[in-house]
Amino acid sequence: MTETRCDVLIVGGGGAGCSAALHLALRGSRVVLLERGLVGGQASGVNYGGVRQQGRNPAELPIARKSREIWGRMKQLAGTEAEFTVTGHLKLARDDAEEANLIAYLDVAKQHGLPLRMIGRNALHGEYPWLGPKVLAGSFAPEDGSANPRLMTPALARAARDAGATLHERTEVMDYAHDGADFRLRTAAGDVFVAPVLLNLAGFWGGRVAEAFGEAVPIVPLSPNMLVTEPMGYFIEPNLGVVGGNVYLRQIPRGNVIIGGGHGESDPGQPGQTPWSRPIPEVTMEAAALAIALVPALEGVQVIRSWSGIDGQMPDRIPVIGPSSTTPGLFHAFGFSGHGFQLGPAIGAIMSELVLDGRTDIPLEPFRITRFGAAGQA
Ligand SMILES: Cc1cc2nc3c(=O)[nH]c(=O)nc-3n(C[C@H](O)[C@H](O)[C@H](O)COP(=O)(O)OP(=O)(O)OC[C@H]3O[C@@H](n4cnc5c(N)ncnc54)[C@H](O)[C@@H]3O)c2cc1C
Repeated sequence: MTETRCDVLIVGGGGAGCSAALHLALRGSRVVLLERGLVGGQASGVNYGGVRQQGRNPAELPIARKSREIWGRMKQLAGTEAEFTVTGHLKLARDDAEEANLIAYLDVAKQHGLPLRMIGRNALHGEYPWLGPKVLAGSFAPEDGSANPRLMTPALARAARDAGATLHERTEVMDYAHDGADFRLRTAAGDVFVAPVLLNLAGFWGGRVAEAFGEAVPIVPLSPNMLVTEPMGYFIEPNLGVVGGNVYLRQIPRGNVIIGGGHGESDPGQPGQTPWSRPIPEVTMEAAALAIALVPALEGVQVIRSWSGIDGQMPDRIPVIGPSSTTPGLFHAFGFSGHGFQLGPAIGAIMSELVLDGRTDIPLEPFRITRFGAAGQA
């Protein structure tokens, strides 16, 4: 049994936690990050890889813009861009109501400086002749793209270690206490970690950390259903989505097409247990059918793997970010509701600003933990 003291403790080694460790270590903090499994072993490592700004809740756009700037210098920051490729993101409408939705978002994008261009039916089918006939219109965000989630978080973790942070994998935090000045965290192995600042960056399980400090929130597990095809000739350059989000797909230059749509099943487990998630075959087939309707050339291509993962979903589909309402020195960022991969780099930067500067330029009011009312009643 050991006792370790540091400046900042982080629970959770996903994209948010590893980015926070890196940003804090670069500014000289003594940081210790505790991760139950392996860094990037949960949502941050198994997601679809969409680095997308368009279509986000307007409240998230300042964070998404900040993150996009960091994605652009990821190679300098983390030693690799993790296959981040700016292909653009093309969001498609399949009926008039969906087209109206795309048009309405142009104003939102403009207010936040997000480049976005509407493409009408004729131009769309001219530019992307492989789109199916049911597609009516699209909006194109040229700065968006995708990255390889398997690479991103481990790279941030490596860079954080190089900058002086300590990351402990296979280290589950079981007990949380605050004595008025310091947090004392006890791990499954009985080791104790002590610091005046605690960052709750524990993904779905961030809800449990918050609950330990009297801030229960109505978070539920979210498990997007994913599949990937055998490689085929590369032709789908942009990352594709649709209004309503029931299918999304992207092709990597090697030729495989990654498709998401619908939900799998999962059990985040109790403390001490290993979480699991898995895709549902019928959902996989349904997502494949929706993908074929968007891109008919996908017909007959073999699906070689399907999978799922666990993110935390909030009732209003935006995360909790900001200081605790009960415990000084505690900061939360969790519940990214299926779209926190793109945000992760900025979350780390924002956490370092909150801890070291006591403020951030990013408006965090919409993300306050108290928005769900007493005892997490949304
Ligand atoms: C299948 C899927 C597809 C997705 N697609 C996209 C996408 O295309 N684009 C996008 O932007 N987002 C996407 N997302 C969402 C995105 O992956 C998540 O929002 C993001 O990765 C969350 O990062 P995080 O660091 O908050 O959480 P996580 O990656 O879940 O990391 C939290 C970590 O905390 C650890 N932890 C929890 N409790 C404890 C404890 N007690 N002690 C120690 N460690 C603990 C966990 O083991 C975990 O590793 C997708 C999610 C899934 C599941």
